[in-house]
Amino acid sequence: MLRFSRLASSAARHQRAALYSSRQFHSRFIAASTSGSGGGNGGDNAGDSAGRFYRIGAAAAAVAALAAAALSSPNADSRFPTAQVATATTSATGSTHVTYEQQLKQKRSQRRIVTPIDRFDNGGEIKRTDGLTAADAGDSRSLQKSALTRSAPAALPLAAGGAATGKSTAQRTVAEQQATLPAPAAPADSPGSVVTMSDRTGLPSRVPYLIIGSGFAGMAAARAIRASDPLSKVLMIGDEPYPPYLRPPLSKELWRRKDDRVKAMLSPLGDMRRNSWLFVEPDSFFIEPRRLHLADTGGVSLWKGRRVIALDIADKRVTLDSGDRIEYGKCLLATGGRPRTLPVFDAAAAQSPEVASRTAYFRNIDDFQSLRNKANQAKSVIVIGGGFLGCELAVSLTEVAKKTGLEVHQVFKESGTLAHVLPPHLSEHTSKFIAQSGVAQYPGERVTSVDWDSAAGQVKVGLSSGRSLSADLCLVAVGIEANTQLAESAGLEIDPGDGGFLVNAELEARADLYAAGDACSYYDVLLGRRRVEHVNHAEESGAVAGRNMASDPADPDRKRSTYQHQSSFWCNLANTLAWDAVGLVDSRLETQSFFAMPPLASDDGAAGSDTAEDYQYPGVVFYLKAGRVVGILLWNLPDEIFQDKKAFAPSRLNLARKVLAERQLADPAALQALAREFDVYQTVDDDYQDLKKYMETKERQQQQQAEASATANSSGPAATGVASAPVPA
Ligand SMILES: Cc1cc2nc3c(=O)[nH]c(=O)nc-3n(C[C@H](O)[C@H](O)[C@H](O)COP(=O)(O)OP(=O)(O)OC[C@H]3O[C@@H](n4cnc5c(N)ncnc54)[C@H](O)[C@@H]3O)c2cc1C
Repeated sequence: MLRFSRLASSAARHQRAALYSSRQFHSRFIAASTSGSGGGNGGDNAGDSAGRFYRIGAAAAAVAALAAAALSSPNADSRFPTAQVATATTSATGSTHVTYEQQLKQKRSQRRIVTPIDRFDNGGEIKRTDGLTAADAGDSRSLQKSALTRSAPAALPLAAGGAATGKSTAQRTVAEQQATLPAPAAPADSPGSVVTMSDRTGLPSRVPYLIIGSGFAGMAAARAIRASDPLSKVLMIGDEPYPPYLRPPLSKELWRRKDDRVKAMLSPLGDMRRNSWLFVEPDSFFIEPRRLHLADTGGVSLWKGRRVIALDIADKRVTLDSGDRIEYGKCLLATGGRPRTLPVFDAAAAQSPEVASRTAYFRNIDDFQSLRNKANQAKSVIVIGGGFLGCELAVSLTEVAKKTGLEVHQVFKESGTLAHVLPPHLSEHTSKFIAQSGVAQYPGERVTSVDWDSAAGQVKVGLSSGRSLSADLCLVAVGIEANTQLAESAGLEIDPGDGGFLVNAELEARADLYAAGDACSYYDVLLGRRRVEHVNHAEESGAVAGRNMASDPADPDRKRSTYQHQSSFWCNLANTLAWDAVGLVDSRLETQSFFAMPPLASDDGAAGSDTAEDYQYPGVVFYLKAGRVVGILLWNLPDEIFQDKKAFAPSRLNLARKVLAERQLADPAALQALAREFDVYQTVDDDYQDLKKYMETKERQQQQQAEASATANSSGPAATGVASAPVPA
């Protein structure tokens, strides 16, 4: 199969390419416009939105900047007309955006505030009331780094000391440097840094910030609190035995990695950035709960393997499954979700231990390890569910099949896979892809019975059509339920529709009590009440909740904010089946799709598709509600508008966010123009790559010329072969 990015790689092909649109419920595809002249983006409608979508403007500007540089070089090329460049450069001047990648970079730099090393970077002595040294506390790196960093602010005394001893600062030992430091000032206690310890257990009994749940939302909140209130002490309680980690690789990448790589990725020790991108931080990042009160500059403490079982809002206190009680100043509910079960499986499992041991649910690292072990032993598996998790795991299990011959079956009640999200034509395409990967599919089927077949030693699953399937293993992946059990003891309101703790647009459930991530049903000021189950939402909502928890009305830099971010999500089943989406992406809404297809008739004999059946091409799907765009799905279109490891590229997802925010009315012609704005033909990338190559060639030529003339000058006239003649008087 052709990789989608290659499809738009030649300008000639662009000129022939047509933008096809498909409207849901239409039985055939309509060629919505003729080919764009001079590339897809330069078509008839492209001009009317110039300037409105600054990201593409910025992309064009980036290309133009290269072109301008090319033109300013002495050997300017007539391929880039001056007028064209000038226009694009003007639009670039007005662009003041921050790209998604820049935001990420900023976020990553914020992380450094709270690394274990920086815990002691307060320029002061490491004081421990328990008489321990930092090395005793198991953090020798912290001690070493803190000693080094303490020397920096004390430049003057050190310089004086250096002069007295006749040694430079660099020559003196750390001990000598420390001896010359002024007496450290103890950090003033801020309300966010006061932790009370229990005399009985030696564990925190009162903390300023408490986070229930150590997933992505909890971690993002902890970071945001620390960024707003730098001396703050945060206690995070999680019932899993791991530090916070990313769940997406559990159903995707980890199945495609070699055993030793999987082992490294599942280890919460060592250097996360080198060994793993599963865990957000290594264990060593977190302060032990027993030492939280000792952290001079605050930090994040993780209490693992403990569950909060009750929440008392009036007394601002939680009870743990250990019986410990902790009072809080501000609390976040970041409890995520758990797999939804099917009553028919529950009933069978209650009757039969064999069914119980062969029925799997999937949410966490332990589930991954257990399913991997069982799948390696099994001959057959039935995946129940045609949503994200069911599809991803069905495809991932075919990786096991390649080694062991495992039979993979997938049963789902909808007519196609991912049918709750994708319009029918894309759902059909996805089903086809999954079937081609080696998964036997049973669409439109519900599980009506589950029994243990002792003769076969397998689980027998009866389906609504009357047929039955037997397998060694069943994996139930039929969605999640928000973990809202704490609502009962707290008297909190739950969204009657989607579940989740009901919170306002500031993610607040009650005074000093917040909820974020999968567990919250929040008020989206743009799209109405929602509960979202995706990583980007967990991270961004967690960050807003954290900032609001640490807000201070007296400090203009610590103001409360509403959660307005339109989170994105992605799915990646293969190179030619990957997408990102923003907003309400729900197939019950009307959709309109646009795809960049090869020419209808191939005039040069090149293979082209005569129908729109094959959605391996890039496209944009608009989800419409009351005549407005409320969701956008970017099909086989990378987020970055051009690819360059060294440069930040404008983001298509941010353009999608902007389209949603503008609440434009969506008539078909405008949508087609809008699809072009996403550079569906990927011409910006092509132009960028062309210009990069051109610039590199020019630079090389100039360098060669400079070298040649330098050689000529240094070698004198003889070397140049030009006879020196006296200058005429
Ligand atoms: C296999 C898999 C693949 C996924 N793939 C994608 C993807 O490709 N793209 C995407 O955008 N999203 C994906 N998701 C969804 C994404 O992982 C979630 O949206 C995200 O993890 C939500 O984060 P969270 O912090 O809100 O909740 P969680 O990650 O569920 O974390 C909540 C934590 O709180 C703990 N907890 C719950 N109750 C208590 C309590 N009372 N006391 C103490 N601890 C408690 C839970 O055990 C859990 O550790 C995937 C999810 C799974 C499971």
